Amino acid sequence: MDEILGQVLRKAVWERLDLLSELAHRADAPSLLSVARSEIPRLTEGWRTLLAAHEPDSRDHCPECSTRWRPQKAPCSVWRSAYEHLVAGGLAPRPGRHQRPAHPVRAAAPVP
Ligand SMILES: [Zn+2]
Repeated sequence: MDEILGQVLRKAVWERLDLLSELAHRADAPSLLSVARSEIPRLTEGWRTLLAAHEPDSRDHCPECSTRWRPQKAPCSVWRSAYEHLVAGGLAPRPGRHQRPAHPVRAAAPVP
């Protein structure tokens, strides 16, 4: 059941990102402004929540990415990705990671 829930969750997130990308490319200016005003705060809050969970501890290890046996030194992949997408990449549009073939989205199996 957890695997199915995970598939449904991931599919919903990919679809939401696809919708936002589609709107960014095709929506008229008033619609785009409306979407930007509603979605940018949600996206920034999402990043803040995600990054707070990956904030390094006193030993400079990520508490989310570390295991008891394998500590992950900061910055972890989440922080590196945030930097890449939010700072280094600026605000320039680029193909989304979900559009790369390395991460195919499988259809969710039907719930029995
Ligand atoms: Zn992390």
